Amino acid sequence: MRIVNVGQRLVLQDPSGAGLDVGKASDGRFSGDPQGVFGQWDEFREWAAGQEGRADFAIDPADLGAPTPAPRQVFAIGLNYADHVSESKMGRPDSPTVFTKFPSCITGPNATVELPSGAVDWEVELVVAIGRQAYRVSEDAAYDHVAGFMVGQDLSERVIQLAGPVPQFSLGKSYPGFAPLGPALVTVDEIAHPDDLELGCRLGEEVLQLGRTRDLMFNVRELISKLSAICPLLPGDIIFTGTPSGVGNARDPKRFIPPGAVLTSHIESVGELRNDFVAGPGYEGSEGGD
Ligand code: ZN
Repeated sequence: MRIVNVGQRLVLQDPSGAGLDVGKASDGRFSGDPQGVFGQWDEFREWAAGQEGRADFAIDPADLGAPTPAPRQVFAIGLNYADHVSESKMGRPDSPTVFTKFPSCITGPNATVELPSGAVDWEVELVVAIGRQAYRVSEDAAYDHVAGFMVGQDLSERVIQLAGPVPQFSLGKSYPGFAPLGPALVTVDEIAHPDDLELGCRLGEEVLQLGRTRDLMFNVRELISKLSAICPLLPGDIIFTGTPSGVGNARDPKRFIPPGAVLTSHIESVGELRNDFVAGPGYEGSEGGD
């Protein structure tokens, strides 16, 4: 099953790409609010399984929002692919490196993002959404608590992210628009090999990152088990699982996203984000010029 957010309405997407408005089609049994459905996830899945052939409108990609527009908690994992750990010149972590992206930074899969500075970097990531509350869950039971997968970009302003004697990642990764998500939330049963998916991103035509989720050092099962050992994971929460190598900050010379760029991020069997970038009001070099 695939669900999308069309103009802040929850929509079921059929294999042809057509949409069914869930609030209307269920006569109000399920809320039209895309975030609300995760509180009724099991019931919703059962209902959705019986809706085949009912999709009745064409979805305009320009209207897509994030499938999880307002999670209560956003977990994000740093340094979770060995090749990214080496390019970052860090030691291999023996437990997940966890930070947050504050939910106000979430945006849609095709959104235009304003650059606050010339130091904004790309990080394509598999994002997992929680469908059932998970507290102290074993690795074996982890997938029972997953609603589905999305493509995500963990956009990162590296100066703010790495400032100070004990860098705190979260603010530098939480400017408005710094978490494009989507294009759909895809349930795990739709995906033939959920633990081994190609993911990558490109700037224009140039490939910047290309990896496979089988190379996650802490995979989805381990992350759910380890995070839920401490925090209850709530329906609709999301986990950014980490990025493979190829980020701009680790290059020599360093590279960042310029105004006018188009960043395309993909995950096999899940979909593609397409985000373009403009200079924001405080963008360095944008003042005083012609
Ligand atoms: Zn990341």
